[in-house]
Amino acid sequence: MVNSKLESIISKIIACTAIELPTDVYESLQTMQKNETQPLASELYSCIFDNLDKATALKRPLCQDTGVLQFFVKCGTKFPFLDDIEETLIAAVRNSTKSVPLRHNSVDCFTERNTGDNTGALSPWIEWEIAKGMNDLHIDLYMAGGGCSLPGRSKVLMPLEGYEGVVKFVFDTIVEWGINACPPLVVGVGIGTCAATAALLSKKALLRKIGTHNQDPKARDMEIRLKNGLDSIGIGPLGLTGSQSVQCVNIEFASHHPATLGVGITVGCWATRRGSVHINSDLTYTILSHANSI
Ligand code: SF4
Repeated sequence: MVNSKLESIISKIIACTAIELPTDVYESLQTMQKNETQPLASELYSCIFDNLDKATALKRPLCQDTGVLQFFVKCGTKFPFLDDIEETLIAAVRNSTKSVPLRHNSVDCFTERNTGDNTGALSPWIEWEIAKGMNDLHIDLYMAGGGCSLPGRSKVLMPLEGYEGVVKFVFDTIVEWGINACPPLVVGVGIGTCAATAALLSKKALLRKIGTHNQDPKARDMEIRLKNGLDSIGIGPLGLTGSQSVQCVNIEFASHHPATLGVGITVGCWATRRGSVHINSDLTYTILSHANSI
């Protein structure tokens, strides 16, 4: 059953995410503009902020590609509306497609028919996590645009390829495909046993705020080294060269099988749009991603 109060909360986070960048991404772009040393790149940051100001003033999506909507749901077993969540998310996406509006981005795999409302087979994508004994609900929303999804890939390395193999995979991917994803990039890297778990962890890494680091000191060190290395390539904002190319590299990992080393990469663009909302059992809520939500 669609829960109308829950739907209005989810519609609000969808609109907010489409129109305004999450606070950490906005601040990261401000810092990059301040630190940029090349004149053309500085000018491009001014264009980006002009774009963002206009989107906020006009209440319009900040990029024409509003992506495919992906929800990461962490729901307590005691949340009273657990049974309503899936239907409510789908209804919110359908209605927001008209009200925000969102571009029609859900195309059937075999008929190539666009459904026209951003719903379809497993669309929106919903990734579930159940929290035992909790009575609240946490939802992360990610809008997966086309260009920024292009560099995404995962593969399984031989374990002896080790850290060097992971670094080579990340550099090869960004050098070959990063320019398609409207830099400066947000780079999520996942490490695990197989291609599937590494890919999922790389998406979860992308959901982590810019400026945070993995708590494992070696993973943290690798995040910093990868960011510095990728910056030195000189891709720059929108791929037109500059002294910085990535906003951050975030790594998430799982212990892996001794005979395999799975690595995945997921990339966000300058317009990395993710929203985060915490909903209590009485349907009061807090938007966590946007300090000044619309
Ligand atoms: S890569 Fe990002 S900024 Fe570029 S068109 Fe796609 S969604 Fe928009």
